[in-house]
Amino acid sequence: MQSALSAAQGLEPVQYDPQYILMVNGLKKYFPIKGGMVSKTVGHVKAVDGVSFNLRRGTTMGLVGESGCGKTTTGRTILRLSGEKTGGQVLFNGQEVYDLSSKEIRALRTKMQIIFQDPFSSLSPRLPVSEIVGEAVREHKLVSKAEYSDYIDQVMENCGLQPFHKDRYPHEFSGGQRQRICIARALALNPEFVVCDEPVSALDVSIQAQIINLLKDLQEKYALTYLFISHDLSVVEHISDTVGVMYLGSIVEYAATEKIFATPLHPYTKALFSAIPVPDPAYRAKRIVLEGSIPSPANPPSGCKFHTRCANCMELCRRETPELREIEPGHFCACHLYNDA
Ligand code: SF4
Repeated sequence: MQSALSAAQGLEPVQYDPQYILMVNGLKKYFPIKGGMVSKTVGHVKAVDGVSFNLRRGTTMGLVGESGCGKTTTGRTILRLSGEKTGGQVLFNGQEVYDLSSKEIRALRTKMQIIFQDPFSSLSPRLPVSEIVGEAVREHKLVSKAEYSDYIDQVMENCGLQPFHKDRYPHEFSGGQRQRICIARALALNPEFVVCDEPVSALDVSIQAQIINLLKDLQEKYALTYLFISHDLSVVEHISDTVGVMYLGSIVEYAATEKIFATPLHPYTKALFSAIPVPDPAYRAKRIVLEGSIPSPANPPSGCKFHTRCANCMELCRRETPELREIEPGHFCACHLYNDA
């Protein structure tokens, strides 16, 4: 982790370390803002602005933050689903994802999958479940024709679906079952890494638990690695081994889940975590309410991007961007309050 994070500050290329399936170093994704009569680029939305982290095989990293902080764009940029990156590195098994030819990236798609937030709009309403789950399996010739039907049955069963579901269409299923179909579609390709983009946000709480448990079971069975994007901190705490907190396109804090939930360091993380409901009627939460709204990523504040909303803001914060530094072993934070640590 240290090497990637420190490298991100100076944007030195990071060296591949086999213990990590994914190494993201100083990743940037800017979207142009067009204006004027000739549709000239007049600025950029800095959706992802120097994100760095390493993801160990078979583990789950939670990525949290307010809506619009760049979590989803980070996931999509890692998977090369948002066109070209603006800068930085994405190493998947040591291979720079953005150096691959279109043929190579097509082959890599089976190893890197995504589960979307909305299980209804992400499924074609015109295809039966067998086609939704099996289309890409056939396309990539993952199994022989003779094995195909049994293979699809097995994948569906692993995801809690029955063989008789194969001929049904998405509208005939509940939200939870539709998300199981999405998971089956992703797992049918035998991936190593899955971006789970708010996979339970659209579901009832009882169904959320089923899907989370299913994801955990499948991870254990197939040694999957997840990047779990969510704004639901309780879910992230339950499923993640490590957590990164994003604000305006950058990771401001990163640590093991127990550590970051027990002792958050960054003022933004503290405010975010203070909003987690505690199931104890006698408990009086000390909620930290953030003033103001999240600034525009097209025109982020100077220095620390959080300074316009931070109760601890100092003069230095307005001028200098704090580096993401290791404050204690395995606990990284980007805040001038810890400059002497
Ligand atoms: Fe607040 Fe300053 Fe820390 Fe930013 S660097 S979070 S403004 S104390």
